[in-house]
Amino acid sequence: MPGDVFEYCDVSLPVPIDQAFTYRLPLTLRHRVKPGCRVLVPFGARRLTGVVLTCHETPPEVEAREALRLLDEEPVLDESLLGLARWLASYYCAPLGEVLRCMTPLGGEIRRSKVYTLTDTGRDAARRLTGDAVEPSVQLLRMLEARPLSEVWLNKQVPGAGKVLKNLQRKGFVQLEEVHADRDPLRASSSRLKVEFSGRPAEAPRKKSERELLAYLEMHPGPHSLAAVEKNVRGAGQAARALARRSLVLLRPDEPASPSLAAPARHTLNPAQQEAFERLKEGIDSRQFHTFLLQGVTGSGKTEVYLNAIQACLDTGRGALLLVPEIALTPAVAGQFYHRFPDRVAVLHSAFGDAERAEQWRRIRTGAASVVVGTRSAVFAPVRDLGLVLVDEEHDQSYKQEETPRYGGRDVAVVRGQHAGACVVLGSATPSLESRQNVERGRYTLLELPDRIERRPMPQVEIIDMREEFLATRKQAVFSRSLLEAIRERLSGGEQTMLLLNRRGFSSFVSCRSCGESVQCRDCSVTLTYHRRDRRLLCHYCNYAERVPTVCPQCASEYIYFVGLGSEKVEDELHQAFPTARIARMDRDTVTGKRRYETILQSFRNGEYDILVGTQMIAKGHDIPNVTLVGIVSADIGLSMPDFRAAERTFQLLTQAAGRAGRGSLPGQVLIQTSNPDHYAIRFAAAQDYASFYAKELEFRRAMRYPPFSALANVVIRARTQEEAFRLSGELSALVAPPPAQVRVLGPAEAPLQRLKGDFRYQMLIKSSSRVTLREVLNRLRSHALEKRWPATALIIDVDPFSLM
Ligand code: ADP
Ligand code: ZN
Ligand code: ZN
Repeated sequence: MPGDVFEYCDVSLPVPIDQAFTYRLPLTLRHRVKPGCRVLVPFGARRLTGVVLTCHETPPEVEAREALRLLDEEPVLDESLLGLARWLASYYCAPLGEVLRCMTPLGGEIRRSKVYTLTDTGRDAARRLTGDAVEPSVQLLRMLEARPLSEVWLNKQVPGAGKVLKNLQRKGFVQLEEVHADRDPLRASSSRLKVEFSGRPAEAPRKKSERELLAYLEMHPGPHSLAAVEKNVRGAGQAARALARRSLVLLRPDEPASPSLAAPARHTLNPAQQEAFERLKEGIDSRQFHTFLLQGVTGSGKTEVYLNAIQACLDTGRGALLLVPEIALTPAVAGQFYHRFPDRVAVLHSAFGDAERAEQWRRIRTGAASVVVGTRSAVFAPVRDLGLVLVDEEHDQSYKQEETPRYGGRDVAVVRGQHAGACVVLGSATPSLESRQNVERGRYTLLELPDRIERRPMPQVEIIDMREEFLATRKQAVFSRSLLEAIRERLSGGEQTMLLLNRRGFSSFVSCRSCGESVQCRDCSVTLTYHRRDRRLLCHYCNYAERVPTVCPQCASEYIYFVGLGSEKVEDELHQAFPTARIARMDRDTVTGKRRYETILQSFRNGEYDILVGTQMIAKGHDIPNVTLVGIVSADIGLSMPDFRAAERTFQLLTQAAGRAGRGSLPGQVLIQTSNPDHYAIRFAAAQDYASFYAKELEFRRAMRYPPFSALANVVIRARTQEEAFRLSGELSALVAPPPAQVRVLGPAEAPLQRLKGDFRYQMLIKSSSRVTLREVLNRLRSHALEKRWPATALIIDVDPFSLM
C-alpha cells in the first residue's frame, strides 16, 4: 500500500543532544520500520541503537545517512509508551534519547549469534586445499569444514578473520547465518533435566551466567526444565551443571511428580480490606483513570488487597502492573504472585541479566504475561491494555532513579495510569507528604486499613533518652540498660530481636587527639568509615579504601582514635554482652548480592539466629512472626542530614522498623534510643501517629516553601577543579538573575558534599510555585550548557530530588 512505505525516519539516539536525527531507509527496510522500533544507525564514527519516532517523506537539508539494521520487527514501544517518554523528557528535563534507552530492555538482540557455514562450493574448495596452513583463508576453511562456527569464536582464533570471511562470503565459499544461542546440540539432554534453587548460602559466584541463573531460580521457585530455563538465562546449561557440582542448585532427571513450594495461604478479606477492595473494583470497572492512596498500618494486609484487585482487573480482560521497592522483591513475594496467577506473571528485577529481562519483556509485549511485578524500571513494561497500576510502599526512596533520566517511579506510574486510563493505587503505612497532600487537594481518594490483621495490637513503643542514660551510668554505652534487659528476655524466651542502626562499618570515623583532624576520603569531602573486619577505612560514596593509619596522617601523632558507631560495632558489642546468642548482621558489607540478602533473611525466619542487626535494609516489609522486639540503636543519625526530608525519612524509617515487631500472635515491643527524645519525628513515630506527624511536617514545608508547596529542582555543577566549578556555576547563576516572579533560587553554593569522586561540586536549589516556569528556567540552563559545549557530566538537573547532597 502506498503511504505505508516511507523513505526517511527520525530517530532518537542516546546522546545528550535534544533532537532527533533523520536517516534514509534502505529499500528493504522501508515497509518494515515503524515508530517505536529500534534501529542501528551510524553516528559519527560510531554505531548507535536508537528508537524510531516517525517515518516520513521529507528529505532533510543535508544528505541523510542510511540506517543499517532494524532490530525489532514489532515496535518495542507503542504509541502510549512513546507519549510517556516525551512526557518524561520534558518533565525531568532529560534528553529524549536517554529516556528511551532507559525504557527499552537491553540486549534484545544479544541472544542471536552469527554463525558461518561452508557452502557446497566452499566445501569443494576446502577439500582441494593444499596451501599453507597459516594463510588465514585456508585456516578458516579448514576449521569450517569440521562444523559451523560462530563469528565471535572465529575472530578469536584467527586474527583478522572478519575481513577474510567477508571475502570468502563474496566468493560464495561461506554463508552467514543468524542462529539462536540455544540451538547448541550439546545441550540436548537439558530437556530431560530439572533444575531448582537449593537455598544454600554461598558467596556470590564469579561467573555472570551462574549469578543470573541463581537469581532466576530464586525468583521462580520450584523445579524447572533446564531446557526452558536456558531460553531465559544465557549459558544456563553449563552454569547449572557447574553450580550443581557445588550443590548450589539441585539438578536431577525429570520425574513425573516433582515437589513444588507450598502455595501461600489465601485469606478471606476482613471488613476493612473488603471495603477497600470494593472501592478499587469500582475504579477498575469504570475503566477510567483514578488514583487511590491505600494507607494501611504495618501488618494490615495490603498485599491481599493488591492480589484481589489484580484479579478483578484480569477479569475485565486488562493487564496489571505492581511496583515494589528494590529490597522488597524477594522470592517469597514473587512466589505469592506466581501461585495466584500461574503462567501470567512476569517478574522484572534489576538482578536479572539482559537476556532474561528481554525474554520477560517479550512475554509481556505479546500478552503472554498480563501481570507484571517489578522494581522501578518495570513502570515502563509494555503491559497490554493496562487497567491497574499498583505502587507498594509508595514513599520508598528506591523509586527515585539517581542517574539520568532522574525520574520518580511513583510519579511516572501515576502518569502512565493517566495515559492508559487505568486505576492507580499507591500503598503505604507512611505515605509521602506529597501523596497525602494530593488526597487533601482532592486528586487522590484515600482508602484506609486502620488495624492490623486479626486485630493484633500495634507494638508498644518506648523512647529511651540516651542523655539520661549517660548521666545515670556515666558510660557512653551502645546499649541502654533497658534495651539489654529486653534482649535478654527475648533470648531466654526463645523469641527474636531485630536491631537497627542506620550506618554500616565499625566506627563512623577516625580522628586525631593531637590535631583534631579526622581522616578524609582522597576524592570526596567525607570522613572515611572504619571497617574492622577487613581492617581498612572505606569511603561510603566512592568505595575508596585505605589501611588504618597507625599515626595521624596530618601531624604524625600516635593518638588516633575511633569515633561513633556502625552496624559492625553493634554486632561486636552484642557478642560481648551475649556470648552465646546467635547473631546475624545485614548491611551492604555482608550482603553482596540479592541472594545473600534473602539467605540471611530466610535463616533468620527459620529461627537459626536470635538477633538480626542491620541498616535500613531490615526495616522494609518483612513479615517474621517470631520477632517481638525491635531496637533502634540510634534514631538520631538520619536527623542530622542536611536535607529538608530528614524528619520525614526518620519518621518513615522508625515507623516501618517498629512495624516489624509483633506481627505474629505474640505482641511486640519497640525501644528507640535517642539523644533527641523531643524531636517530633521521633515522638510521633513512637506514638505511631501519622496524622499528627503529617500536620506538623506540613506546617514546616509550607513555611519553608518546600514540596508539596513548591516544585523543586536541584542543579549540581561538577568540574575537576574548584575554580572551574565556581566559574560554571556563576554562568548559570547569571542566567536566572533576577529569577521570574514565581521562582526562588538558593545558591549557587558549595554542595553539602563539596567533593565527590574527585569532582568539585556546586549546587543551586530552585523552588517554584509553577511547574511550567520551573521547566522554562531549567531548559534555559540546559541549553546554555549545550551551547557552550560543557562536558555531559558538568550539569546535573534533578527535578523533584530526593537527596540534596
Ligand atoms: P502489610 O503489607 O500491610 O504490612 P501484609 O500484606 O504483609 O501486611 O500482611 C500481613 C500478614 O497478614 C501476612 O502474613 C498476610 O498473609 C496476613 N493476612 C493478610 N490478610 C489476611 C486476612 N484477611 N486474614 C488473615 N491473615 C491475613
Ligand atoms: Zn593529628
Ligand atoms: Zn570517596
